[in-house]
Amino acid sequence: MTTPPNTTLWFPIMLRVGEDPALVIGGGKIAASKIHLLHTVGIRVHVVAPTLCSSLHHLVQKKDITHQTTHIQPETFLSLLNAQHYRLVYLATDDHSLNATLAALCKEQGILACAVDNPKASHFITPALVHRGLVQIAISTGGAAPVLACYIRSLIERIIPHGISALAQFMSTQKKRLHILFPDPKQRRHIWEQFLEGIGGPMACQGHYTQAQQVLETLITSSPHKPTGEVWLVGAGPGDPDLLTLAALRLMQNADVVLYDHLVTPDILNLVRRDAKRIPVGKTYQQHTLSQEEINAELIRYAQAGQRVLRLKGGDPFIFGRGGEELQALTDCHIPVRVIPGISAANGCAAYAGIPLTHRDCAQSCLFITGHTKADGSLTLEWSAIALRHQTIVIYMGLSILPSLCTQLITHGLPPDWPAAIIEQGTTPAQRVITGTLTSLPELVRQHDFITPSLLIVGKVVQHRVPPVLA
Ligand code: SAH
Repeated sequence: MTTPPNTTLWFPIMLRVGEDPALVIGGGKIAASKIHLLHTVGIRVHVVAPTLCSSLHHLVQKKDITHQTTHIQPETFLSLLNAQHYRLVYLATDDHSLNATLAALCKEQGILACAVDNPKASHFITPALVHRGLVQIAISTGGAAPVLACYIRSLIERIIPHGISALAQFMSTQKKRLHILFPDPKQRRHIWEQFLEGIGGPMACQGHYTQAQQVLETLITSSPHKPTGEVWLVGAGPGDPDLLTLAALRLMQNADVVLYDHLVTPDILNLVRRDAKRIPVGKTYQQHTLSQEEINAELIRYAQAGQRVLRLKGGDPFIFGRGGEELQALTDCHIPVRVIPGISAANGCAAYAGIPLTHRDCAQSCLFITGHTKADGSLTLEWSAIALRHQTIVIYMGLSILPSLCTQLITHGLPPDWPAAIIEQGTTPAQRVITGTLTSLPELVRQHDFITPSLLIVGKVVQHRVPPVLA
């Protein structure tokens, strides 16, 4: 899209500033915001102003910037420019016409100047900046909507991994070698893309250069037509897409194939890459679409065919999710695997229902247990370690046997009027919560027709429930 007519044309470039300091005229808040930016990037700053705001005082005291107490006029300004070579000048006094006059003087001297309140008088404007070491992303609306530029920056900040500079550093150390090994730029690009979209990128981001190097070596030695597949075991959280981790979202947008559980909500599935193949492998109570062995086999088959496979599981993959078994089966076949934790139903449901899981007055521990029975209907739990008064008990998959769970807890020592709550479809717009006691809850749940997924919370913490006030 071209720039609309009658707007100033700006061309984004990265400017080499070298050792030359930047000059800032003015010591107020706007000057301070520019100075902080220059300082973050590592540019030396000389500020000239009769007074400084407190954050700038702090920088002067730390000797991070130099300060000259001069009330600037055009003549004094010219002598400043003559005394030292400045690459960049910011004009940020509260006298608008003085800023414009000084910008014009800079132009005569061939120095780049920005009058902060006046893009028309400026030779450059300052973009909103995402600064992560070697990686810098500049966002500009040409001065038309600075708040929008900042908003876009916050969106980008969320998706760029924190270790991106370490990744850039790793790639720069490998650049020359790849150039020699693969003179064809298309081949080099292919290898780097596979590296970045696979497990190598995140490893280098975390500074694990030895492992990243191994991944790169595998890509270098494997034939370019036979990409190496991998599997990502990712927790999708309890239902609300806002509870996805940044890593989960990134991988969801990179996957070729997605094998997902029935617990993964449609709103979350909508965030998966549009052209990824989606395969439901969900298990509902007594109704398994695929057996665990079949799921493992499918994961292995797709990965061995060179696909990037996302195994998307409700909550956390390692909490009652059989993620451990999948990890074992995949590593047995030497398939690279990443595990991304998710917010488990206990954390999500408790938070959205306003029930603290621990409380210093009444619950010093919190136990997650499963109410899932074996094929013969038996449930072997060590009740004496569970039915404790200073403990919160969270029961997953307990809905279908709720009456017997409550009876067992009473039989093993908890009072019949002990507080209990149940949360259905927690964290989703359909969430329902009932609180009661071990005696009353089964009947209440029956009356209100609770369905799965539902989570049971037993313990005094239920009495501390404060339903959150929604904005
Ligand atoms: N790995 C998942 C748990 C899988 S077991 C996790 O970490 O959350 C499935 C059980 O989790 C369900 O039967 C139910 O007890 C609980 N559960 C999962 N999501 C839930 C939700 N949104 N609301 C209530 N319970 C939920």
